Amino acid sequence: MNSLAATSTAHVAATGVAVDPDLAAILDSSTDATFHLDSAGVVTWRNRAARRMLGRIDGDLVGAPFVDALHPPDAVRFAKVLVQAGAGARIDDDLQLQLRRTDDQVVPVVLTLAPTSAPGEGGGWWVVAFDLTERRESQRTLAESERRVRRSEALAGTGTFVVDFGASMVQWSEGMYAIFGVDPAEFFPSFSAHLDLIHPDDQDLVRAALAEVLAGRTPAELDHRARHPDGSTVWVFLAIEPTRDPDGRVIGASGVCQDVSVRTRAEATAREALDRERAASEELRRLDRAKEEFLATVSHELRTPLTAILGFSSLLRATPTEHALLLEPIERNAYDMHQMVERLLDYSRLEAGRVMIEPRSVGLAEQVRSVQGQLDSALAGRTVEVDVPDDLVVWADPDALQRILVNLIGNAAKYSEPPGIIRVCAGPGEQGTVVSVADDGPGIAAEHQSEIFERFFRVPGSTRAKRGTGVGLAIVRQYVELHGGRVWVDSEPGQGSTFRFGVANGDGR
Ligand code: ADP
Repeated sequence: MNSLAATSTAHVAATGVAVDPDLAAILDSSTDATFHLDSAGVVTWRNRAARRMLGRIDGDLVGAPFVDALHPPDAVRFAKVLVQAGAGARIDDDLQLQLRRTDDQVVPVVLTLAPTSAPGEGGGWWVVAFDLTERRESQRTLAESERRVRRSEALAGTGTFVVDFGASMVQWSEGMYAIFGVDPAEFFPSFSAHLDLIHPDDQDLVRAALAEVLAGRTPAELDHRARHPDGSTVWVFLAIEPTRDPDGRVIGASGVCQDVSVRTRAEATAREALDRERAASEELRRLDRAKEEFLATVSHELRTPLTAILGFSSLLRATPTEHALLLEPIERNAYDMHQMVERLLDYSRLEAGRVMIEPRSVGLAEQVRSVQGQLDSALAGRTVEVDVPDDLVVWADPDALQRILVNLIGNAAKYSEPPGIIRVCAGPGEQGTVVSVADDGPGIAAEHQSEIFERFFRVPGSTRAKRGTGVGLAIVRQYVELHGGRVWVDSEPGQGSTFRFGVANGDGR
């Protein structure tokens, strides 16, 4: 501006009010509004940008005092500045005023004022007005976006920082001060001050990550603890990456911190709960295994003396004795116990997954007859009606099939009273053959009909009076399922029960 002033000074002095056409052409091409005022502050010339800025047509302002173009409150201020500058006072570099357009809109400008001759010599003035509208607008937008960033940082508990090696400068956003619990008025962020706020046990971790980033190797992410000046500790997530110059050299770093104490605490609680649960379920499994092993051992050990009791009592029966009558309860009880031990053994083998079935073609009627023989004393006083064709062949493991029938026919006998009728039938069904065992006992209420197949479940009420362990039907279900079939019951209290299971036909279909 000073050289411009010097050039034009001579020219204006020579011409009075006119401006050299070359200079006018240069000034007309500028986007800043430029005015030439005489020593009294009257406009003698203005460039095109000035006319655009003020919305005036040619001649409007030329010949009028410049203050007419100013917003009235600023006119007085400008007039004063002009008088002081005319008396040789220093001109303020940053004269922010408002111009008034012809449509009464106000344009914020910064004015630069330069004399056309040496101060005090009574020359004129060059006035250049730089339109601040856009700058103000971008300042407003910037302030608004900064406000938004601050708000989201506060909401998310995040903060950002920038490290500039060249300028040895560290900048923190507001969120950083909140995360590290320090007062922005008192804390001066620097590299070492930042590290000092990190928990001593985590400082090496953070230093190592920073070293990696500063060596330009990789962005880093990690969780570390921070110590607040009040002694409390918070968990902070830190993500940091290098910043580079256009040649790719690392010139600093920028990063994000987030207070993750709540998340970390919740994760730790969930982890502890999970660990506790795992330990508890492992302990349960261990106890379960111990129980199963115990059950298997006890059942096995009981079986040997029971077999001996049953064997010797049948020998005694063959030997005429005056105490023959006493033999019957001994045999019956030993037999019941034997059945129970067999069930427990079955159960523990099935639970341990040690049962392998070997299905083959088996005559069903023959199997039923064999089971009737085994249950001879249990069936005493009952009529067993068997409606199974002699030539009906099913695809099953014979031992497993017998265990199924022993349990179902045994239950039918156990839970009905003599003289009851037990019907064993077989007919075609969805899985080949459906075998049914029906009794005229007490029946089973609908709500218990699926539970009875669960291990250890016994229907509350009268049937509890019968001896039992609650594993018979669970065994039946497992054996049937090993054959790929299913077992179910149709029953109504007081109407007897019919248990049915499906088994494939003898040819494996
Ligand atoms: P347990 O007979 O040893 O109790 P089960 O698993 O064989 O065990 O049977 C479970 C329960 O189902 C029995 O306790 C009984 O309440 C009921 N139940 C089984 N079969 C019959 C039946 N034929 N009639 C009535 N209730 C039965």
